[in-house]
Amino acid sequence: MAKPILYIVIPCYNEETVLPITGLMFLEKLHELMQNGKISDESRVLFVNDGSKDGTWAQILRLRETDVHAQGLKLSRNRGHQNALLAGLMTAKDYADITISIDCDGQDDINAMDEMIKEYQDGAEVVYGVRASRETDTFFKRTTAQGFYKILEIFGAEVVYNHADYRLMSKRALEGLARFKEVNLFLRGLIPLVGFKSSSVYYDRHERIAGESHYPLSKMLHLAFDGITSLSVRPLKMITGFGFLISLISLLAVLIVVVIKLFGYTVQGWTSLLCVIFLLGGIQIFCLGVIGEYIGKIYAESKGRPRYIIDKNTLEETETDEKDS
Ligand code: UDP
Ligand code: MG
Repeated sequence: MAKPILYIVIPCYNEETVLPITGLMFLEKLHELMQNGKISDESRVLFVNDGSKDGTWAQILRLRETDVHAQGLKLSRNRGHQNALLAGLMTAKDYADITISIDCDGQDDINAMDEMIKEYQDGAEVVYGVRASRETDTFFKRTTAQGFYKILEIFGAEVVYNHADYRLMSKRALEGLARFKEVNLFLRGLIPLVGFKSSSVYYDRHERIAGESHYPLSKMLHLAFDGITSLSVRPLKMITGFGFLISLISLLAVLIVVVIKLFGYTVQGWTSLLCVIFLLGGIQIFCLGVIGEYIGKIYAESKGRPRYIIDKNTLEETETDEKDS
């Protein structure tokens, strides 16, 4: 089998403290893989600057000056981790045979890449990097993250357990992904839908090398909510079931009330009446809220806004430079 061209895709947002360390780590890994004959010399590390407000882009350009294997993609503004990753993958797919996406913070073990490439050589089109343990995470992060997967599971969003966005994808899988046009991006849920043969590689996750997590609890809840509402309609179904149950109970209650009335035990009963009104009112508003959530998604999808806009692409610069000379 010919040596595949690998693009390592790394979304970076305000990572100037980590990038000088991890950027070199990724490049070193790329060189190691090239020297061992596992990947082609055309392979690159593609850093995606997701509208950082610090010196991240300057760091990327500096890396590129010292090593042509480092390339950069600059988004026109901050679009969030998922969109930045998609921008990188969609750009890389035109140059690469395989991509590996990984976070910039050095938390994921880069040595799992060897095994990922081996799985690809054995025929897998998608290889998920799965965290073997979460011992290095804080107790809070660990429990909230486990809750995150539990919630997703209950509400019918299919994801690979303990897999974040560290994964290998082949050109074919990327071309499949490119056909998903949704704006509410949750890649972890989408990629199983792309299909093809997949496999998993297990690794230990380290602590962040420097800088701070951009995923506080609020963002994680947001991602879980997005994941559920953009992948499944189970919440809607649950509400239908809930509404059915409430209707049955109400019917029973009406019967009882009528019977009581027939026997002449009429009471003033305005308290219970108010209770029922409040209860039903509450349920209705809750249901409307969830329906509104989906309508909001339809609204966003129907606008069909671009999911990202590329400002600069050093890969293209390299090409034109070559043509000029
Ligand atoms: N990131 C990004 N855009 C954002 C937020 C984060 O590209 O708006 C990148 C960030 O630079 C990192 C990755 O997404 O490479 C994951 O973020 P982080 O490490 O903060 O999340 P955690 O690992 O704590 O869940
Ligand atoms: Mg991280």
